[in-house]
Parts: sequence; C-alpha cells; structure tokens
Amino acid sequence: MQNNSEDLLKKIIAHAKEYGYIFQSSEIYDGLSAVYDYGQNGVELKNNIRNYWWQSMVQYHENIVGLDAAILMHPTVWKASGHVDAFNDPLIDNKDSKKRYRADVLIEDYIQKIEKKIDKEITKAQKRFGDAFDEKQFRQTHPRVVENLKKISEINKRFNQSLESGDLADVKKLIETLNIVCPVSGTCNWTDVRQFNLMFSTQMGSLSSDAQTIYMRPETAQGIFVNYLNVQKTARMKLPFGIAQTGKAFRNEIVARQFIFRMKEFEQMEMQFFVKPGQEMEWYDYWKNERMRWHLSLGLPSEKYRWHNHEKLAHYANAATDIEFLFPFGFKELEGIHSRTDFDLNAHIKHSGKKLHYFDPETKESFVPYVVETSIGLDRMFMAILCHAYKEEQLKDGSTRTVLSIPAPLAPYKVAVLPLLKKDGLSEKGREVFNSLKKHFMCQYEEKDAIGRRYRRNDAVGTPYCVTIDHQTLEDETVTLRDRDTMAQERISIQELIAKLREVLSFSS
Ligand code: ATP
Repeated sequence: MQNNSEDLLKKIIAHAKEYGYIFQSSEIYDGLSAVYDYGQNGVELKNNIRNYWWQSMVQYHENIVGLDAAILMHPTVWKASGHVDAFNDPLIDNKDSKKRYRADVLIEDYIQKIEKKIDKEITKAQKRFGDAFDEKQFRQTHPRVVENLKKISEINKRFNQSLESGDLADVKKLIETLNIVCPVSGTCNWTDVRQFNLMFSTQMGSLSSDAQTIYMRPETAQGIFVNYLNVQKTARMKLPFGIAQTGKAFRNEIVARQFIFRMKEFEQMEMQFFVKPGQEMEWYDYWKNERMRWHLSLGLPSEKYRWHNHEKLAHYANAATDIEFLFPFGFKELEGIHSRTDFDLNAHIKHSGKKLHYFDPETKESFVPYVVETSIGLDRMFMAILCHAYKEEQLKDGSTRTVLSIPAPLAPYKVAVLPLLKKDGLSEKGREVFNSLKKHFMCQYEEKDAIGRRYRRNDAVGTPYCVTIDHQTLEDETVTLRDRDTMAQERISIQELIAKLREVLSFSS
C-alpha cells in the first residue's frame, strides 16, 4: 500500500470509531484480530444496505423469495460442498519478519503492480493521441505493454497450474523467481507454502465420547441449496426462480489486515438463481448486468468499479466474475457472480441419498437445475461506501470540513432538527418538528453548541439534511433545509417538509 493510501485508510478507521460506526471487537481486552463491532451509526448504515439489497432482490423480483437458514448445519453439508477437503488458502511466512501471507495475494499484488505500469502507459498515450487513441490497438502493439501483458498471462498460467496440481513447492519457486519480497522485512526469505483450511469447527454434544465436529458456515449458499426443494414446493415456484439470504459467515482468515474488508466473522448477501440446464449463460449475463446496475444506482462513480473475470475457476463453476471496487489499497473484490452448474445439488444428492430433482409440470421432465449465484459481502459494501464517502474538504473561507457523503437513502440518520437557540420558544417548536418527522425518518434532535459546530458534526456523521428552526419559523411556519454535500440552504414550509425529504431520500431505480 502506498503511504498516502495507508494514511487515508488510517483516517477512515479513526473516523469510523470516533463517530460510532465501527469499533474493534473486545477493545478493552486489546481486541480480537479481524473481528469488529458496529456502533450506533454503523448498525443503521448496515441495516440500510441490507434492506436496499433485499428490496432490490426480493421485493422487485416476483420470482425471488427469501430464506433464513441456521448458521450450524449437518457436517456432511460441508463434506458435500467440498469445503472440508478444499476450502484452503495457500499460506507462506517470511522468516525474517515472521509475518504470514497468502501466496495467492502476494502474486495478485505483484500482478497489480504490472497492471499499474500498463495503465500508466495507456494514460500517457491517451494524452498524446487525444481522440485518435485506440486503446485496443495500443494494447496489442505497444512493445512494453505487450511484454507486460504476456508476463501477467504467464504468471497466472503457472500459478493456476501449480495450485491445481497441488505443487506448492512450485508456488514458492514462482514467488522467489519473481523476487516478491515481504513488505515488512523487504527480504525474499520464505518458508514453504502450505494449505490451511479456513473453516471454524466446534463440538456438538454433551459428552466428549459422542461429540460431533460441526462447522460455523463459511458461506450462506449451502443453506439455500439444502432447502431449495422445500422452498420450491411450498412457494410453488417454477424455474427460473431465486432464493435470497443474508447472514453471518465465518472464515479463519489468517491474513486479515485491511479493516472490515477481510474479517473472520462477516455477513453475506447471497442469491441463488435456479435455471434450466443450458440457460445458465443467459442468466449469468443477466445477473452481471443487474448487479452492476444495483451498484451504480447507489450513485458511486462507475470509475470505481471494474470487472475481473476468473481465469481459474472454482471446482463448482463454469463461469465466474468479480465486481471489484477501488478501495484505498487498490481494486479488490466486492461481489462475485458465479455460474455454479448443478455441482452443489448433485453433491447433496450423492451425500444425502435424497432426490433433489425439479419436476417441470409443462414438459413432465425431472432434472437437476443449474444455479447462477450473486454473492456480496455486506461489510465490504459498507467499507466501499465508507471509503467513497469520506472526504476532507477545503472551504472557500479557508477552513476545512470532514464530511461523509453517504448516499442519502442509506445514511444512518436522515435529518437533524436544530433549533437555532434554546430560548424564545425555539426548542418547543424544534421538538414539535422533530416529533412529526421521526415517524417517517431516522431523525436526531440537537440543541447543544453553536449552529456551525452542529452542522460540522452532522457533516462528519453523514446526516444528509439539517432542518434549522429560527425566529422566522415562529412567524411563518418555515424552516431552513441544509444539504450536507452542497451546504446550500433553502427556506421551506414545515408542511412541505415530509414530501420534500421523501423525494430526496429515495433511490430513483
Ligand atoms: P476473497 O478472494 O477476497 O477471499 P472470496 O472469493 O473467497 O473472497 P466468496 O467466497 O466469493 O469470496 O464470497 C463472496 C463475498 O463475500 C466476497 O465477494 C466478499 O464480498 C465477501 N467476503 C468473503 N470473505 C470475506 C471476509 N473474510 N470478510 C468480509 N467479507 C468477505
């Protein structure tokens, strides 16, 4: 990570704590690594993101319904899904710094550096050639770009081959050949690479003799697969249909240094879409578009998103892509869209001995559906919004302000009601306005401190609107409505306030 992006991340983490968004878990005991708690504002933002996702997936699609499966499941579920045998990360330690890394991440970061070089060449050429610039041609012909693209492709190919064949010694050799050094010690003094299973396990049963090892679910998807026929039959769903679920997942992430980007306990928002075999690519494209549309509907700039198609596919997939977001430490995965074929359902048929076939009432055929999945981390989405929203602005009068430009419909508190003074009946009027607004929006009432300080505090929390009550309010029933992002103020009648706020606080999608 570059120094200034490291500084930016530090500032965001400090801000998130100061304004009640995110606290380290068990902080008074010096914390628990890669586990975090959401504070009074964090829980609201998280709920709002989750609700918006749920609304977009379940409410807006008549062929998608919800589910809330238990975190604990029969251990054979994880044998069938492949997690017991293959949910591993290749780990490597630097002998000098004693720091542990994921070998795949070291290689990914190395590739990202080469990609940056390519991007630089492209930007330079774009400036030079202006409108006449043809990026595709440039990528195919510019010698340094061609060479770097070839290098990336060779690294990916070798790494994937080594992992697939389980040749971990070659993964180490690749790291050494590329001269990838530990960012802390700066040396290339690495241990061997070894596989580490990411599932947390615990014992179920009162006696140690009959206790059974069970797992904390590492993904929510399997709860959907094992229930798909229950849902299909009771909701009388016909293909294609989807089942959506949000909930906690657990992974024993060893290398977790990027705040809530990678946690041991996190929340996923997943949707499995069941389709006729042969139609999966059509639906895969549909869900790619649909999910990108969802992201862009939040109002975050499209330049902060990009696609990353998987070259190496997971054992269950026949196509997979990630939506990546530009975090302070670079473009990283935010959401995965995978065509999972009939792998999971067939695996559960095999391990459970139960028939999980779909009966098509029209063709009278019975078959195992294919599945297209969309899977997004709620906490990563939270982090994307937080990182985008955090701004330090230089104002015209020379002062600075810190503002969280969270998309207004997702902000924890939508409105702050601020009487200019505590006296002259302004408090009473303020309370009256607050009481009428709070039934419609999350509102806060504040009368302490000078009005300017209260504005700054609300900017820093990310409250999109402030309603100020002054002496004129008592005369003509109008208030000022202040916009967090533009700081513009308009006079508006109390009567119109709810309708106006409804309008500016909804997504247009
Ligand atoms: P990564 O490559 O970053 O480890 P992944 O490919 O293993 O992620 P998936 O199994 O596809 O992730 O999970 C779907 C989504 O869940 C991811 O896109 C991400 O947003 C989220 N997610 C996965 N692992 C974590 C984690 N440890 N902490 C927070 N969110 C996570």
